[in-house]
Amino acid sequence: MLVIKFGGTSVGTPERMMKVATLVSAIEGRKIVVLSAVSGTTNTLVEISNALMADEQDQASQLIDNLEKFYNNFSKNLFKTSTYHTLGEEIISRHFSLIRLLAAGKFDERSRREMLAQGELLSTEFFHAYLNERDVKSRMLPALHFMSIDEDNEPELEKISERLRPLIKSLEKYEILITQGYICRNHKNEIDNLKRGGSDYTASLIGAAVRADEIQIWTDIDGMHNNDPRIVKNTFPIAALTFDEASELAYFGAKILHPSTIVPAQKYSIPVRLKNTMDEAAPGTIISDSSEKGKIKAIAAKDQITAIKIKSSRMLLAYGFLRRIFEVFEKHHTSIDMISTSEVAVSVTIDDNRALHEISEELMKFGTIEIDHNQTIICIVGNKLADKEGVLKLIFNSLGTIPVRMVSFGGSKNNISLLIETPQKEKALNLLNEGLFEAK
Ligand code: ADP
Ligand code: ASP
Ligand code: MG
Repeated sequence: MLVIKFGGTSVGTPERMMKVATLVSAIEGRKIVVLSAVSGTTNTLVEISNALMADEQDQASQLIDNLEKFYNNFSKNLFKTSTYHTLGEEIISRHFSLIRLLAAGKFDERSRREMLAQGELLSTEFFHAYLNERDVKSRMLPALHFMSIDEDNEPELEKISERLRPLIKSLEKYEILITQGYICRNHKNEIDNLKRGGSDYTASLIGAAVRADEIQIWTDIDGMHNNDPRIVKNTFPIAALTFDEASELAYFGAKILHPSTIVPAQKYSIPVRLKNTMDEAAPGTIISDSSEKGKIKAIAAKDQITAIKIKSSRMLLAYGFLRRIFEVFEKHHTSIDMISTSEVAVSVTIDDNRALHEISEELMKFGTIEIDHNQTIICIVGNKLADKEGVLKLIFNSLGTIPVRMVSFGGSKNNISLLIETPQKEKALNLLNEGLFEAK
């Protein structure tokens, strides 16, 4: 069994959706096709929700009308026959009636989550109908019937697997099963989601749940690049990465993968292949257990980091001190990304500021607190990178005079992380690209 996920741009126009249908039909064997919403849709649904939260009904109505027009056009250009044009209209009318119903009621977080789910529900229904029109046999596998998260918003892999396996077995006759990325149910059985970009995570969770042979993530670029192609010019695709390397890159900001994508796949050693929908002949990237040793593979950057320094000359060396500091973060469900210590201070970084006020109040008991916002973690990844001779010298020479606030080295052999101020990011990524990949 293969799990094949297509992102928003891959299904972003009727022509592209047609191409995805051709691609999927050409791949042999049984497969579960995971689709994102048509590109731009989730952003618009977020905008609509924000307008409704701010009581801007007119703005919301305008956005809803425009989105509906977009789908009417999409339907006109996707389907060929009048029967399917009518079906397209029905699909649109059903979802937009619900959207308008949500907009008319008391709009709360729950309505927002239901609103956000409409994108994936629309794209999969269109795709399913289109395959039918082309006489390609397929069945829907509704994500809301099997994909779930617990009270801590963590996916329930075992339960997902228990629900999914009999479902798939009962549909044995069908080679193509279609499901929605991103959406799920939470512990209250309400509609929820796996956070922005979550369709990659859906694919990986399904892959792990059914012990797929491979998980394929099809997107708009020819694999994981060695640096952020939106910021750096001369980037290139990487042929192979280990799970650990890919996991670090995804977690530390490589947008091509949702931060948690690799975790379920790695648990069952299921290879993850990144492919380009716009250039299917390109080799892409294969993520698996093996890779080249001692090589710098790639750089990623994660923004919106907050650094917290706790200074305490009295207590830092006392045993149990770090534990008590970490307990504060644990209590507030906030995870720490980087940490560095000196004799008088300990610095940590977090990417989730929601409990920052409470955390800093509690940390004040231990000493003086300094908080710096607008920081970026630059993460340099490679297999057994720490064994590579002169790697730190190379990195710091490349960075020149860019001030580095924290360094993390040795935590794992795959990763060296640096903390810099966000306005320096573009320059730092470019300098590192020149120094680590372009210099001969
Ligand atoms: P999809 O809609 O298919 O999920 P995304 O926009 O989420 O696609 O991810 C693909 C985009 O990720 C690329 O177009 C590229 O701009 C961006 N990206 C950021 N960092 C990297 C990287 N290291 N390698 C490849 N793409 C990257
Ligand atoms: N449609 C969702 C988003 O835009 C999920 C995804 O595309 O992966 O975030
Ligand atoms: Mg994505």
